[in-house]
Amino acid sequence: MKIGVLLDEPNLLPEFDYTFYEAKPSSGRILPPLPKAWNVVNCFADNTVSQTKPELVATCKGEKAVRGTVKRFLWDWICPSRTEYRDYCIKTIQDMAKKDVAGIRLDSVCFPREGYCDCPTCQSLSAKSGKDFLEWRAHQIESFIREVRESITCGLGLTLEPDPCYGKERFGLDLAKVSEYVDFVSTPLYMDYSIVYWLDIISNCFRRKITKPYHIELYAGHPRSPTKNLVSALAVASNYADCLILSTYESRIAQSLQSEMIQDPKVWKFFEERGCNSMLDILKHWQKSTGTDR
Ligand SMILES: [Zn+2]
Repeated sequence: MKIGVLLDEPNLLPEFDYTFYEAKPSSGRILPPLPKAWNVVNCFADNTVSQTKPELVATCKGEKAVRGTVKRFLWDWICPSRTEYRDYCIKTIQDMAKKDVAGIRLDSVCFPREGYCDCPTCQSLSAKSGKDFLEWRAHQIESFIREVRESITCGLGLTLEPDPCYGKERFGLDLAKVSEYVDFVSTPLYMDYSIVYWLDIISNCFRRKITKPYHIELYAGHPRSPTKNLVSALAVASNYADCLILSTYESRIAQSLQSEMIQDPKVWKFFEERGCNSMLDILKHWQKSTGTDR
């Protein structure tokens, strides 16, 4: 099993197998890509374009998919059917891919929720396709991912919305189809991990369905929950993942977590008792590479 880190700072952390860097966060700002890292591009979540081109925002029954509505969207969503915006995303990805990056990970590459999008463009395209609306939505997302795959030669990963059952119905994500184009599939399973019961259920369900290498992202940023909760989460998720990603967003937090875990004998004992050899190997590797004593 590998270990990775997700940052919104342009730093490579060499003790991790993968550094993911938010090069186009949901704010919509396009930052210079980080060479050698996996650069994360938020595709249809874009709080900048939603302001500058509000006509591109996804809609459902007259309601826009934006923050501050009763549907509690975390960011604003652009309609995945607009050629102008799809081309803008693909151009952004192509430009990043030229900068010696390890790869690109696509985030927020879906419809905002069930029922979206019924804008005039979606209505007309879905009617012309002759397909059932659900199938047509899934096709819109699949074709975008395929276009990205065909336009770059570096690695390509995909983040799914963390719903292992109804991704297609709710978000237009047809797991079997979209998996074909990517090197790995990732799911953010963000909780406070005071109880890891749900983490176990959701990870297990995804693992049964995902045929590609599977990355599980665990939330480890501010506000920090106790490290012992995160350690429980790592033990559970390591049963299912090919790679665990610590989403710390700050390098400082990732590094302090590393040394805290290496130095705390209770952490080693916890993994030993549960037979989590993959996590013990990671601790040993960190110990060696950071020169920190147990
Ligand atoms: Zn639309």
